[in-house]
Amino acid sequence: MKTIYLDNNATTCVAPEVLDAMMPYFTEKWGNPSSIHSFGGRVKRDVERAREQVAALLNAEPSEIVFTSCGSESDNMAIRGAVEAANGKIGIITTRVEHPAVLGICRYLGSRGCRVTELPVDSLGRLDMAALDQALTDGGRAVVSTMWANNETGVIFPIAKIAEKAKAAGCVMHTDAVQAVGKIPIDLRKVPVDMLSLSGHKLHAPKGVGALFVRRGTRVNPLIFGGHQEGGRRAGTENVPYIIGLGRACELAMKNMQEERTRVAAMRDRLEKGILETCPDARVNGDRDNRLPNTLNVSFEYVEGEAILLMLNDLGICASSGSACTSGSLEPSHVMRAMGVPFTAAHGSIRFSFSRYNTEEDVDYVLQNLPGIIRKLRELSPFAAKGNAMPAGGRK
Ligand SMILES: *Cc1c(COP(=O)(O)O)cnc(C)c1O
Repeated sequence: MKTIYLDNNATTCVAPEVLDAMMPYFTEKWGNPSSIHSFGGRVKRDVERAREQVAALLNAEPSEIVFTSCGSESDNMAIRGAVEAANGKIGIITTRVEHPAVLGICRYLGSRGCRVTELPVDSLGRLDMAALDQALTDGGRAVVSTMWANNETGVIFPIAKIAEKAKAAGCVMHTDAVQAVGKIPIDLRKVPVDMLSLSGHKLHAPKGVGALFVRRGTRVNPLIFGGHQEGGRRAGTENVPYIIGLGRACELAMKNMQEERTRVAAMRDRLEKGILETCPDARVNGDRDNRLPNTLNVSFEYVEGEAILLMLNDLGICASSGSACTSGSLEPSHVMRAMGVPFTAAHGSIRFSFSRYNTEEDVDYVLQNLPGIIRKLRELSPFAAKGNAMPAGGRK
């Protein structure tokens, strides 16, 4: 059976060019970049070239790129490191729709005495800028951390505007740009963020490598102490093959972004239009005018997202639910809840996320099968008759 992969916000395949670039570092080029001898030194030169490739995609300086093990590590280092370097300022401002990597470290620091504000969003997933202004009037904030683009809905925050406000209030500004990097242009000469997280496996490099952009002069403590790698900002012998892969992936993203954005958005838009035309009571979640080009989050009223996903899975279609299933109780995702998506719709939310490797045939295949799936599930649903509320709380 063929696989139609439409879950690229969860992870992407490694690009063949990326794998090719990595292979020599598992075989003949296995030196340690910190070594004195030239066998290691040659590898160091290649790591520095990868740093240049990552920096180029962001329009940053290579010296501002710190390689990490993943997007989660980058997020943790940025937020914890900024708070610890901030000399007594212990406030954190973030949003309700962040990835768990950001919410997790913020809530941990909250449990250790930091004052954490999670800003609300509106029904389209747009940040409440008045709430940001209000939170910034409190002088004890060390760091503002808001994502560039949301992983569930694709909604893009006005990062330049947020960063200007945060900087004017004397805060360090961090953005989790894991979903944005490689999909939309990012110019860090124009957008005054101090730190930016990215992750390899969301842009066709392997899982287990990431980077944190740290603007020159930003005060941030390390998360991992030890050797002097990464300019003393992140100890541990470099994951050389993966760093090389990340560099190549960034180079590919830069070269192909314009063409891919248009092509991917056209496929996404055709799927969206087809679904809205063929499935009654479907609704798109998130600001359609300000989204990543590859992401579609759509709800089907009165149908369980998990049931849809299982039936899609039987046809070889990989998509994702907006709701996380935890031990038998199905809670709508924190993003859907923050947006106030009605309970009946939040439970049926499905995310389709494209990459450069999807084809028009993928869209055709989904459109051939999805309307029938929704019809069948609605027939089975005891709640499908309009006006019948679904029961609240955890259900099996
Ligand atoms: C995937 C993702 C992360 C985590 O990256 P990992 O490399 O998997 O740790 C963080 N933030 C966002 C928005 C993501 O989509």
